[in-house]
Amino acid sequence: MVNKKVRVRFAPSPTGGLHLGGVRTALFNYLFAKQHGGEFILRVEDTDQNRFVEGAEQYILDCLSWCGLTPDESPVVGGPYAPYRQSERKAIYREYAEKLLASGNAYYAFDTPEELEKLRKDTPNFQYNLFYRDGLKNSLTLPPAEVAQLIADQKPYVIRIKVPADEKISFTDLIRGHVTFETNQVDDKVLLKADGMPTYHLAVVVDDYLMKISHAFRGEEWLPSAPVHILLWEYLDWKNEMPQWAHLPLILKPDGHGKLSKRDGIRLGFPVYAMNWLDVKTGELAPGFKELGFLPEAFINFLATLGWNDGTDQELFTLAELIEKFSIERISKAGAKFDYEKAKWFNAEWIKRTDTNILLPQVKEILENKGIAINDTNYLASVITLIKDRCILMEDFYQQAAYFFQNPALIDIAAIKPKWNTEKIHFFETLISKIKGMDDFAPLEIETMFKALAEELAIKAGDLMLPFRIMLVGGKFGPHVFDIASMLGTNATIGRIENTLKEL
Ligand code: GLU
Repeated sequence: MVNKKVRVRFAPSPTGGLHLGGVRTALFNYLFAKQHGGEFILRVEDTDQNRFVEGAEQYILDCLSWCGLTPDESPVVGGPYAPYRQSERKAIYREYAEKLLASGNAYYAFDTPEELEKLRKDTPNFQYNLFYRDGLKNSLTLPPAEVAQLIADQKPYVIRIKVPADEKISFTDLIRGHVTFETNQVDDKVLLKADGMPTYHLAVVVDDYLMKISHAFRGEEWLPSAPVHILLWEYLDWKNEMPQWAHLPLILKPDGHGKLSKRDGIRLGFPVYAMNWLDVKTGELAPGFKELGFLPEAFINFLATLGWNDGTDQELFTLAELIEKFSIERISKAGAKFDYEKAKWFNAEWIKRTDTNILLPQVKEILENKGIAINDTNYLASVITLIKDRCILMEDFYQQAAYFFQNPALIDIAAIKPKWNTEKIHFFETLISKIKGMDDFAPLEIETMFKALAEELAIKAGDLMLPFRIMLVGGKFGPHVFDIASMLGTNATIGRIENTLKEL
């Protein structure tokens, strides 16, 4: 299947935040490139001036870098086919639009936006296509002299592709197999706009050709554009160089009905963007997976499983494993349902698997942002190791770790009170003096001492562990209580027992 050098491109338009579907497209491109020792290119498709959003390109770069999907060629690092920003390639596209005019496969159209608007309103299902073009103001209908005059007078025009009548256009999609379109259903898309900028259709074909793109993974929503692109490849005489396409399945809403949108995230309370995105126009902040406490490894792993599996039960994959195991054959044709609970499961698993030293800087920052000073990073490392399998999101480290650094803000006295009695008071008072006499305050030693004392005082150890835990952490959570005590050390343990006894 792969016979030319693998070169793939991720070609986002900088129009806003990066939806997770976009990151998955980038990921599949990347995995395929790396698996074949090829190149992963970032091309910024910014030819639509109306939809251009300041800051969106940098945001895309930041997202890719957070995910570890480093482009081999991009507007930032450059490369042999620079520039990689389409707005900087304007002159190139005009040249090809003119070639298409010269070969009769494209034509000038002078209809004003108002005229077209009126037609759309008055004519049901109006399209600028082979059924209507003959009645419109273009170089197919106007005499050549008039066309030349309009151009000389600098009347605004667009250049449109001339789609042939009654033909079938077929191609083999790497995921969907054989796909056929009827040209009578395809409209004469604009190739070059009145502002001299190309549309996506012209730019994508010209750039995929010039940048020697071998395979193009893109969202299923681009499938209807394929016939226009194929015609352009043909008309420009490049058909043999056309990349192989793989149109990726949609990512669906959690209930499976329709494509997952930004609105669904807001409505149902989960992120759909890779990173926080602030819409400067509306002032609305769309939350990102990163800021909500996802590890990039987990995010990538989760995305890879949206529409792909390796054919076994394995769900956890490192990026290196994904590169090794990825295969187009195992991408499903059907849309993949988004499941936020599953995304969190991946994150919890990745937090467990990630080395404490790698988690440490981020946890330190989370705690420091909450006002907890970290003076001893070795101590923090031990805390992280102890609690990391209880954290689902990175932010959970605050709740799980705070009491190792400061007295609990609240003690759940109500949970101790009902079964509290003088025997228990006696137990904890004796416990304090026993702790004072301990040389080795290790978990096992504490446990042995604790249980022996309980037996001596004829109280079930099980009835004492919950109060002990609440005294130390404030509530019914956290790892093994003797591990906590040992980590806190004798002074803090005693102090917290005393504090709680006073309140009871
Ligand atoms: N610029 C298009 C987008 O925003 C790229 C589609 C393609 O990959 O061909 O998704």
